[in-house]
Amino acid sequence: MALIIKVNDRDNVVIPVQDAPAGTEAVPGLKTIQDIPQGHKIALNDLKKGDEVIRYGVVLGRLARDVPAGGHIDEHMLVLPEMPDLENMPWGRAAGPDHGLPANLPSAFEGYEVPDSRFAGTRNILGIMTSVQCVAGVLNVAVQKIKTELLPKYPAVDDVTALNHSYGCGCAISAPDSVIPIRTLKNLMRNPNFGGEIMVVALGCEKLSLDMLLEPHENNPENVIVLQKQAGFKAMIDAVLSMAEKKLRKLNERRRVTLPLEKLCVGLQCGGSDAFSGITANPASGYASDLLVSAGATVLFSEVSEVRDGVQFLSGRCGSAEIAGKLLSEMKWYDSYLERGGADISANPSPGNKAGGLSNIMEKTMGSIAKSGSAPISGVLSAGERVSQRGLIFAATPAGDFVCGALQLASGITIQVFMTGRGTPYGLAAAPVIKVSSRTDLKNLWDDIIDVNAGTIADGTETIQQAGERIYRLIIDTASGRYAPFAEKYRLYNDICVFDPAPVT
Ligand code: CA
Repeated sequence: MALIIKVNDRDNVVIPVQDAPAGTEAVPGLKTIQDIPQGHKIALNDLKKGDEVIRYGVVLGRLARDVPAGGHIDEHMLVLPEMPDLENMPWGRAAGPDHGLPANLPSAFEGYEVPDSRFAGTRNILGIMTSVQCVAGVLNVAVQKIKTELLPKYPAVDDVTALNHSYGCGCAISAPDSVIPIRTLKNLMRNPNFGGEIMVVALGCEKLSLDMLLEPHENNPENVIVLQKQAGFKAMIDAVLSMAEKKLRKLNERRRVTLPLEKLCVGLQCGGSDAFSGITANPASGYASDLLVSAGATVLFSEVSEVRDGVQFLSGRCGSAEIAGKLLSEMKWYDSYLERGGADISANPSPGNKAGGLSNIMEKTMGSIAKSGSAPISGVLSAGERVSQRGLIFAATPAGDFVCGALQLASGITIQVFMTGRGTPYGLAAAPVIKVSSRTDLKNLWDDIIDVNAGTIADGTETIQQAGERIYRLIIDTASGRYAPFAEKYRLYNDICVFDPAPVT
């Protein structure tokens, strides 16, 4: 019998993991009636012209002609469903059932409480924000000294990181879209992994003024160093080290405590996807996401351009008209942003996608949406906004890995799960990143970079649910400090890339 993958119980097609020659038994009692290439769709029953083809539990299109059971459905046989316009999206009808958290899975984690914070930290890190790129050189020297001279004295603190970025000056600070980079930086330094400690290194003449980053009660010499007020380089370094030591002393008092998963905020992202991503790593992570949401955790998924063409399915999972309305306004904003830049908004499948069995944009997009599982969507965030709801949240961000990473950190994630097919050594300094491969080949090649292999689903050694439970357990172990993902172990940290849709001056 061939190895086949069926993602959703409602699906009336299955996908063979390897080429399935005519006569291959696809499911018990059903043989393929023609050669079916790897990753292409096999009809599970006799389908007539006009019938719906269902994969990922959604209608990919209607058949342009009859296809008997065991037959091949390729891209020429599918008529795309009518795309509803953005003004008239359905909502609240399509969320999957909550199966609850199986009793054998952990329902708590060991995290760091943060005063006045909805979420707890998974790490204990001193994060030093900059208000402009001009100070980065000085801060980098200071951080090296902090790491070697101070950090060893405070063993309960995991790390110190400079939150360097390219924003702060030379930007159109009063342009309407500047709200995005400004709130991203303001919220980023409030990530729960920084324990509520505020420390900013400023230059003194930048456009991003301290009152834009800080509340009035925070904007004082306890939290802010202005380099133009320091008497030379040595005084700058001394000032940073002196403030850092005070903050480290406080952070060193923090201890992990057992917390309910209501205190955990997890981000999901993919990068370097391949034909297997939508059938292995993404649905397995989606299953883990459903488990997290069942257990009370908050999960953010993002990447507008990855989900734009399936927006009606996301809208269908929104818990209220208001949430659906915000989802649609985010999509419209992104459409107009791309249009201004002369970019194509559609993620039409490439010839390579089609050869791999992805018939149309719906099928390609559903493979990406699969990482969000099937839970109802309980909130939508604009880029860089802090999360204020619990459950599954769509945080509208670009798909670029570092931009999405920075924005999810600003929104409040304290751990990220990253699905990859082609492979990337991506990592974040501010939160642990668990990397999930879509193929066993990649895990074998990058055994000390990939944390979880979801290629087992395509190999037939695990189901989506089993791989999903494994990812769930690793999320809890990582959040609790019992497991350090490879990116954290080797400190493979990418730069913070701020999303600035406003003009650069
Ligand atoms: Ca990405």
